[in-house]
Amino acid sequence: MSKLTTLTVLGSTGSIGKSTLDVVARHPDRYRIYALTANQQDGMLLEQCQQFAPKFAVLLDEAAAERLSANLRSAGSATQVLTGVAALEQVSAAAEVDAVMAAIVGAAGLRPTLAAAHAGKKILLANKETLVMAGAVFMDAVRASGSVLLPIDSEHNAIFQSMPHNYGGDLTTSGISKILLTASGGPFRNTPLSELHHVTPEQACAHPNWSMGRKISVDSASMMNKGLEVIEAHWLFNAPADSIQVVVHPQSVIHSLVQYVDGSVLAQLGNPDMRTPIAYGLAYPERIDAGVAPLDLFKIAQLNFVAPDFERFRCLALAYQALRAAGTAPSILNAANEVAVAAFLDRQIPFLAIPRLIEAVLERLPVKAVTAVEDVLTADADARATALELMPSFH
Ligand code: NAD
Ligand code: MG
Repeated sequence: MSKLTTLTVLGSTGSIGKSTLDVVARHPDRYRIYALTANQQDGMLLEQCQQFAPKFAVLLDEAAAERLSANLRSAGSATQVLTGVAALEQVSAAAEVDAVMAAIVGAAGLRPTLAAAHAGKKILLANKETLVMAGAVFMDAVRASGSVLLPIDSEHNAIFQSMPHNYGGDLTTSGISKILLTASGGPFRNTPLSELHHVTPEQACAHPNWSMGRKISVDSASMMNKGLEVIEAHWLFNAPADSIQVVVHPQSVIHSLVQYVDGSVLAQLGNPDMRTPIAYGLAYPERIDAGVAPLDLFKIAQLNFVAPDFERFRCLALAYQALRAAGTAPSILNAANEVAVAAFLDRQIPFLAIPRLIEAVLERLPVKAVTAVEDVLTADADARATALELMPSFH
């Protein structure tokens, strides 16, 4: 019988957060919730607190925190409500916590996820932006504290499962020639370029295979998501840009592959349901039921593969470029992308302006070396300000 794991879920009201709690609810003997956190969705957090009785609930928004606190008190709940970024760091690093699900979206996830790394927690990493922005700083913190880092992003989880168990951080000595990162190609894989200019946020968020939060859905449609994942793979597996190959695979059944020098290619397959990598991370190195339907290969019948179109998906090319430029370039890319995606979702700029705006910001700002998290936060702030300044010419 395995011991009880005490878990903090950062971003519990999001797509990954809800899937995490779905898996946790299937295994009440294994997991206890220490803290649940969200930006401002106090109604959903209230329901989650009533179901999972965490010690703490954190809301970034103060007014939402006050509402939650009042509602919990009148419901007779013992959950304490906290607010602010420092509270997010506190519930990630607390001594009672064994594992942290890092599922906040965007740069906002960096500080609390880093706090979990400094505190030596088992980290279930969904927040890829942490690695994109601060890969070197975060990986150093993980190594220094002895954190166990488990990738939850489905591709990286698949790569992790297809790597040697004793992988020491060097592809060559492990006999690995390439990481093959699969991509669905998103909803606009076959949309004529001339129509891409007019696509709406609703169309961009209607992903053919995955149901996800709005930001990552737009990233999938632009393929920036795959670009961020190339950078994520670089840091997780110490893989140079040239050894990470993106493969468009529209069915999203093969979640990624690892190619070895002897000709073997190992892969992980499954239905496109994030509860599989989440359950893998939660139970590692054991396996538990995730509530996911078994894969029916006869029903799938066909698996297709095509090379990515870097002209159509400029964001993917920009991400490779930022990875090669290193230093603060990926932080600038990420911040400009967050501003551009928010503006697109707000109908301020057209879809095709997303890569153009990011490119303009990358051209404007000098790339600097990263020695501490402050360098990353400065680059992030500068890139946001520059993106907002340049935005009017992209309307
Ligand atoms: P989502 O938008 O559905 O949920 C985001 C969560 O973060 C919510 O709980 C929200 O309240 C919280 N949040 C948002 N802004 C915040 C802030 N400023 N401070 C504190 N909390 C904040 O997002 P999602 O789709 O669940 O994605 C979460 C992360 O996981 C992202 O980094 C995404 O790239 C990654 N990811 C998601 C999927 C997926 O299938 N959804 C797959 C792979 C990786
Ligand atoms: Mg992914």
